[in-house]
Amino acid sequence: LMQLSVPLNFIGFIYREIRQGLTDIEQMFDLLDVRQEVVDEPGAKPLQVTTGRVEFRDVHFDYDPNRQILKGVSFEVPAGKTVAIVGPSGAGKSTISRLLFRFYDVQQGAVLIDGQDVREVTQESLRSAIGMVPQDTVLFNDTIAYNIRYGRPGASDEDVQRAAKLAQIDSFIERLPDGYRSMVGERGLKLSGGEKQRVAIARTILKAPPILVLDEATSALDSQTEQEIQAALDLVSKGRTTIVIAHRLSTVISADEIIVLKDGEIAERGTHPALLRKKGLYASMWDRQREASEAEERLRIARESD
Ligand code: ATP
Repeated sequence: LMQLSVPLNFIGFIYREIRQGLTDIEQMFDLLDVRQEVVDEPGAKPLQVTTGRVEFRDVHFDYDPNRQILKGVSFEVPAGKTVAIVGPSGAGKSTISRLLFRFYDVQQGAVLIDGQDVREVTQESLRSAIGMVPQDTVLFNDTIAYNIRYGRPGASDEDVQRAAKLAQIDSFIERLPDGYRSMVGERGLKLSGGEKQRVAIARTILKAPPILVLDEATSALDSQTEQEIQAALDLVSKGRTTIVIAHRLSTVISADEIIVLKDGEIAERGTHPALLRKKGLYASMWDRQREASEAEERLRIARESD
């Protein structure tokens, strides 16, 4: 039996290694969202970012012809400003960020950056101009320093540490037994959602893109973590054209404009106070969310006093 179990263990080991390798590749593809359908136009030129102005011009889009997701959406994000996209689940918020990265082509209308149609520039230049802080950050099975440095592979240790500090993850890292050399990912330390998001923020700080997409986590974070992440996000979005895909409304209060998507169309738009005064869809979403978070808070206090 011993004779058999050694090779079996070995096969198990190889199998796990291969699987892990595949997971890494899958994650890579996920991360870069490499899609074959969209290719560079012949003679596509690199995107020239001058100010970083983003425009969606009468965008029509569907994943499947039987179901329109965006039905003529137009908005503009002036250079350096922040626009938040809110709306019910499935309204097409994340689709907007996918179209900006040109993971898909629009069926009608155009997505433009500084007046250049994203279909006419190279994908490489487009993707290097946009930074993304996703909902769920995929970490590589490597050190935490490697995971941050991924934003700019040539960055020095000092730069990595500075980015970690700005993202408010430095003191967490310094408390780890191996500090910046601690292994994370599937085979290493498991980080919480908030910690992973701060790694993504640090990565983005290193990348320093002129345009930023923040896809806010749907998962509830405790209010301390939420405040820390908010502070880090405010810092990274300062002076950059920013689109926030907002699932929790608390982060949109300070946006220059809020776009409320519903059934593929812009139902309302304006600043937070203006939309509250309007007492429409946004105001009712706001009330509902406030009630929910108050109930959650009461529950937490009740649990703590147990
Ligand atoms: P949530 O707040 O729940 O994240 P969302 O507003 O970001 O939602 P999207 O992710 O943009 O919504 O999706 C809009 C609609 O498009 C949804 O109904 C979704 O089921 C559909 N959809 C998203 N991705 C695809 C896809 N790859 N293929 C087909 N349908 C898709």
